[in-house]
This record gives sequence, C-alpha cells and structure tokens, in this order.
Amino acid sequence: MAINWTEAQVAELVAKVVSEIRSGSPAPATENWSSTQYNGRKLIGVYATMEEAIAAAEAGYKAIRATSVADREKFITSIRNYCRAEAGTMAALGVAETKMGRVDHKTAKHMLVADKTPGTEDIVAEAKTGDYGLTLTERAPFGVVGAITPSTNPSETVICNSMGMIAAGNGVVFNPHPGAIATSNYAVDLVNRAVHAVGGPEVLVASVAKPTLDTADVMYKHPAIRLLVCTGGPGVVKAVLASGKKAIGAGAGNPPVIVDDTADIEKAAKDIIDGCTFDNNLPCIAEKEVFVFNNVADRLIAGMQKNGCILLTREQADKLAEVVLNKKVNEKTGKVSYVVNRDCVGRDARVILAKIGINVGPEIRCAIAEVPFEHLFVQEELMMPILGIVRVKDIDEAITLACKAEHGNRHTAHMHSKNIDNLSRFAKEVETTIFVKNAPSYAGIGFGGEGHTTFTIAGPTGEGITSAKSFTRLRRCVMADHFRII
Ligand code: NAD
Repeated sequence: MAINWTEAQVAELVAKVVSEIRSGSPAPATENWSSTQYNGRKLIGVYATMEEAIAAAEAGYKAIRATSVADREKFITSIRNYCRAEAGTMAALGVAETKMGRVDHKTAKHMLVADKTPGTEDIVAEAKTGDYGLTLTERAPFGVVGAITPSTNPSETVICNSMGMIAAGNGVVFNPHPGAIATSNYAVDLVNRAVHAVGGPEVLVASVAKPTLDTADVMYKHPAIRLLVCTGGPGVVKAVLASGKKAIGAGAGNPPVIVDDTADIEKAAKDIIDGCTFDNNLPCIAEKEVFVFNNVADRLIAGMQKNGCILLTREQADKLAEVVLNKKVNEKTGKVSYVVNRDCVGRDARVILAKIGINVGPEIRCAIAEVPFEHLFVQEELMMPILGIVRVKDIDEAITLACKAEHGNRHTAHMHSKNIDNLSRFAKEVETTIFVKNAPSYAGIGFGGEGHTTFTIAGPTGEGITSAKSFTRLRRCVMADHFRII
C-alpha cells in the first residue's frame, strides 16, 4: 500500500491517462447515465427515499458485523482494484456532470484514493497492564454513518469515506451534493459491486436518487444514524454540527502561501502553480493566495509566467473579480458578502478569462495578479485557477496577513523557505490542520509527500486527516487481576 509518488511517476501517470482518454480507451459513456442507472444498468444501493437507503445500509452493517477483519480487508482491497480500473471513467463522469475540474487530474485523484487510503491496519487496539490486570481499549464501529459529500471531489470522497468507514466496520448512507449526484451514485454502486464480488453483502453503502436538504434532515434525525460526517462548505458543516449527534466536520479553507527570500524561487513558482492548478483549484487544500517578500516578488512572478500563468493588470483583476463573484447585500444589516459564480468554479483558466474578453490558449493554466491584501482574490475561497499575489516587506507582515487571510479556518497553509525560524513561526501561528513546506499543496494529502490520503480534512472537529480510526468509537474491556504475564 505504501506507494511513494515521485514527481516523474505522477507526470507519467497523468500522461498515460490523458493518452488513454484521448485514444478513447476507457471510453466512459457520459450520455446514457443518471443518478440511478449507467448504460441501462441499475446502480446498486440507490433508493428513492432516505428511509429506504438507511434501512439498506443498516442491513449491510449487520451483515458485516458477522464477518472477520480479514474479510473486511478483502472488501477494501477489492474497492482499491475497482477504483483503479474505473478511475478514468469516474473522472470523465465528474467533469461531464459538474463541468468542473480536469479529467487527467481527477483520474490521478482516484488513483491516490485507491493507493493511499488506509484500510483495517488503521484500527489498532490498546492494551494496558498493571497490578490490577489487563484493560483493552478497542475501536468499534458506530453502526451506520451518515455522510454528506461535496461537488468538488464527488466520487473521490464517496470512495475514500467508504473505505475508511467499512474498514472500521460501519455501513454508510450518503446524501451527496445534488450537483454531482450521478457521479457520486456511480461511486456508491462501484463500492457495492466491489464488496459483493468478494463475498460481502449486496448493499453496504447506500444513497438516494434525489438528495435534498429534506433528505439530509431525515438523515440527521434518524435513530439508526450514530455518526455524521460532513465534507463541504461552512453552511453544511454548521448544519451538521447543530444536529445534536456526534459529527465530524470537514469545512472550507482559504490556504495562504508565504514565499520568503531564502526560498528556491524558481521551484517555489512551479510548485505553487502546480498545486494551485491541480484539478483547476478544486481541492480545499490548494493554494489560494500568495504573500511574497518584496525583494523576490518579481522573480517569483516571472517564474510563474514561465509555468503557464498570465499576469493580469490591476484593472483586469478587478473586472475578473466582478465576474467570478456575485455580490450580496443583506437588506436588514447592509452587510456585503460574496458568493462564488458557479459557472466559474473549477473551470479552465482560458474559459474564465474569456468572460472578460481575454482570449488565451490551453497553455495558460492560471491567472495571477498583484493585488492589495483587501482584494477579493485574497479574501474569498474562489476554487478557480486564479491567484492573488501580495507583496510584503518581511516575515512579520507575511505571517500577520497570511493568518488573517486564512480566516481562522485552521485548514491548510503553505510556505516556501529555507529559514527554519520563519517556517516554524508560521506553522505555529497559523494553526492549520495541514502545513506544507517547499512542495505543491497536494503533498499534504500524500501526493508526492509522505502519509496517507483523505478527501475529508476535519479541521473544525479536530480529527484532521481522517482515516478508518476516525470513524470508530472507543470501548473498554477490563480483566481484573489476571492476564498480566510478567
Ligand atoms: P457545498 O457546501 O456547496 O456542499 C456540500 C454538501 O452539503 C452538498 O452535499 C450540499 O448539497 C450540502 N448542503 C449544503 N447546505 C446544506 C445544509 N444546510 N444541510 C444539508 N446539506 C447541505 O460544498 P461544495 O461546493 O460541493 O464543496 C466546496 C466546499 O467544500 C468548499 O468550501 C471546500 O473548501 C469545502 N471542502 C472541504 C473539504 C475538507 O476536507 N475540509 C473537502 C472538500 C471540500
């Protein structure tokens, strides 16, 4: 399972996938397909009502309670294999349905899930022995987990969540994002096919054909749901945390990057743009704004331009901000807020730029602009290949502004530097769940960096880079006076 991706391997995989897709090799059908069927084949585990979906997941949970850990590991291995085999299909479906992201990068994300999501080895019991005997603490399943998934990494999140939750012994019911329901339900079906193929229940993970806020509400209130896991923006995380149930919340981020004058500037420019443009900036960990020391800013910007960026004038940046964000004024308070224009989220840079009359080719993968700290490109989580760059005079100013731009999400931050004092100071002060040094953001989820992967990064509730053990409850078993063998 421990695959260490080198940059060359990632590039090779992406090139292979792109060539396969171009040659039509996986040939995913994106026309005859909906939230309940794919090419006329009914998707397994998809129900008309949330009540039916919960009942099916509960029956699946009861069925796997009777299976061994080795059986569960067999299910996980099978899910890995199916995920690898159908990665290109799911990537193409995701882009076709949501119009967001890139097929090559989404394929790589599914491969990452298949290779680096932990399985049953993540569930480890603890033993304590002493004068009074032996006490065991074991990690038990919750039962049926209710999971809310986003539109930005739809099938990736369904599969990654399923693997961890099943490894922990749970059944799962999903209320996926309505804008990515057909892709998400394809993934639900894939998990069920993979599990059943190696002797598991026919349905272990379930979903609904038409997810709504009402079906989510049924999930929150249903007595069979013992744990809620929510991956999405601030609204849904708030709703889940208010449910009165044990909840894991993986919410929004706005990851800042600091570049100081000790960094390898050419590498920093490439790393930042590679991370920022990965799946067109959809990952919540992706670089969203940059704070660069004034004395190296020109070199950083030139390096970015060499790596597929167009440098916008301030006037162009302001014009673009008006297009990619919709302004809202609260009628009562007069408070101004901004909502991202869904037609721009996760789109190619050239598609977004065309909206303000700038026509560029596919070689341009990101729009960059020098802006002041208050600019919307710094303050808002755009999830688009657009990067605001702010010049700073020193590390004090860089850290102060970067922490403010992170908005207390405590999600992710990045830094390019060789000064260990500066690196340590920013890491301490920003308090994020993920902190990446001298690499593209995706190193933080195991892509060219050590450690396991997840697409559910639980900052608000503290589980961090979630894995199977995050979806367990602790149980203690005490044997008094015996079984200490020393
Ligand atoms: P979103 O917030 O629009 O939707 C997430 C899910 O919540 C969807 O299934 C949606 O239908 C549902 N939803 C929204 N409001 C709800 C409510 N009140 N009750 C029940 N369900 C509700 O998110 P999105 O646009 O698909 O994803 C992007 C957001 O998610 C970004 O803010 C991104 O940072 C965040 N995100 C975070 C992580 C993480 O691991 N922390 C991972 C992916 C995405």
